[in-house]
Amino acid sequence: MQDKSRITILGATGSIGTNTLDVIARNADRYEVYALTAFRRIDVLFDQCCRFKPRFAVIPDRKLAVDLQDRLRVHGINTKVLSGEQGLVEIATDDGSDTVMAAIVGAAGLLPTLAAAAAGKKILLANKESLVMSGPLFMTIVRESGAQLLPIDSEHNAIFQCLPSGNVTQQVKKLLLTASGGPLLREPMDRLQSVTPEQACAHPNWRMGRKISVDSATMMNKGLELIEASLLFDISAAQLEVVIHPESIIHSMVEYIDGSVLAQMGQPDMRTPIAYGLAWPERIESGVPFLDLVKVATLNFEQVDLNRFPCLKLAMDVVARQNSGESAVLNAANEIAVQAFLDELIRFTDIPIVVEKVLEQMGPVSAHTIEEVLALDANARRLAAQRVGS
Ligand code: NAD
Ligand code: MG
Repeated sequence: MQDKSRITILGATGSIGTNTLDVIARNADRYEVYALTAFRRIDVLFDQCCRFKPRFAVIPDRKLAVDLQDRLRVHGINTKVLSGEQGLVEIATDDGSDTVMAAIVGAAGLLPTLAAAAAGKKILLANKESLVMSGPLFMTIVRESGAQLLPIDSEHNAIFQCLPSGNVTQQVKKLLLTASGGPLLREPMDRLQSVTPEQACAHPNWRMGRKISVDSATMMNKGLELIEASLLFDISAAQLEVVIHPESIIHSMVEYIDGSVLAQMGQPDMRTPIAYGLAWPERIESGVPFLDLVKVATLNFEQVDLNRFPCLKLAMDVVARQNSGESAVLNAANEIAVQAFLDELIRFTDIPIVVEKVLEQMGPVSAHTIEEVLALDANARRLAAQRVGS
C-alpha cells in the first residue's frame, strides 16, 4: 500500500480546519495528521490532538502552549507543542509533512503560507488574504520552489475543476465567479447602516468564520476573490465577471471561446473543495450530501448592484489598476474595518469608507519584496486604525 499523505493544518480549529479534519477522518486509509495549529481555542485543539494524535501542535501564545502541553501529557498524548510565530513557520516547512492546508484567517497566515510555498509543499489554499497581500510574489515563489498550489476557495476550486490543461488565456473567454449576495442582498438600502454584526454574520448558505462572513455581507469577499482569481489563473480584469446566484449551487463557471460554459455544481459545503484539493487529481468521499436537482428546482442569476456593494467596486478597481501593492492595502484596511465593525466601533456602511480613504491616502503603491508587502500592510493598518479609533 502507498504511504499515507501527511497533512499539516494551519488554522485547524476554524471552519475550514474542522471541515478538513472531517474529510481526513473519512479517508483515514490515505491521510494522517502531522501538525495542527490554533490561535486561542485550546480546548478545541486539545480535543483534536486527542483524536488525531498529530506529531506537533502549535499555539503562538507561549503560556497557552505550555497549558496545552501539560494537558496532553496528563492524557498520555505524545504531541509536541510549539509556540511563537516562528513555530508556525517551522511547522509549515517541516520535512515530515507533504501537504499544508493554509486555513488561518487574514494576514496572520501570510508568513507560514509563504514559507510552505518556498519549501515546495502541496498547498491547499483557503487563506485568500495571504495571496491577495503578496500577489505576484506568492506566485513566483510557488513557481520557483515547485510547490503545488490548489485553490480551496469554492469559486476557484470550481474554476480549477472546469479549466483545460492547455493554454488557458487562449481558450477561455471569461471566468464567471458566482456570489450568493450574502445576508443583505435584499435588505432595504436605508437600513444597511444599522446592520448588526449578528445580522452580517448570518449567511444564508454557508457556515464560516466571522471575518469572512462580514466580507460576504459587504461582498469584499468577492472582491478579494477577483484578485485571487486574477493571480491564480493569470487572467486580466476584463476576463473576470461576478454574477449573483443566491442558491450557491453553481460554485463558478468558465466560458470558452467556442460558446461553451462549464459550471461546477454541488451543495454549498466546503468539504467538496477540500476533498478535491486533498485527493487531486483523484476524487474521494467528502461526506457532502448528494445534490437533488429536483428539490433545488430553480437556479437564479442576477447582476450585482455596485451601489449596494461598494467594497466590491473598490476591489474591482484595484484589480483593473494592477499596482502590485494596492491589494495589500485594500486587504489590511478591510481587516481593520471589519474587526472594528465586529467590535461595534463603526457602522456596517463605514467599512467601504475606511477602505476607500486608506487606498486614497496611500496612492498607487507597489511592492516587489515581502518586506515591502509587510511595510504596506503595517502602514495601511495604522491609517485604518486611526480612522476607526481602535
Ligand atoms: P475561522 O475564523 O473559522 O478560523 C480561523 C483559524 O485561524 C482558526 O483556527 C484560528 O485559530 C486561526 N487564527 C486566527 N487568527 C490567528 C493568528 N493571529 N495567528 C494564528 N492563527 C490564527 O476562519 P475560516 O472561516 O475557517 O476561514 C479561514 C480562511 O479560509 C480565511 O482566509 C477565509 O477567507 C478562507 N475561506 C473560508 C471559507 C469558509 O467556508 N469558512 C471559504 C472560503 C475561504
Ligand atoms: Mg469563496
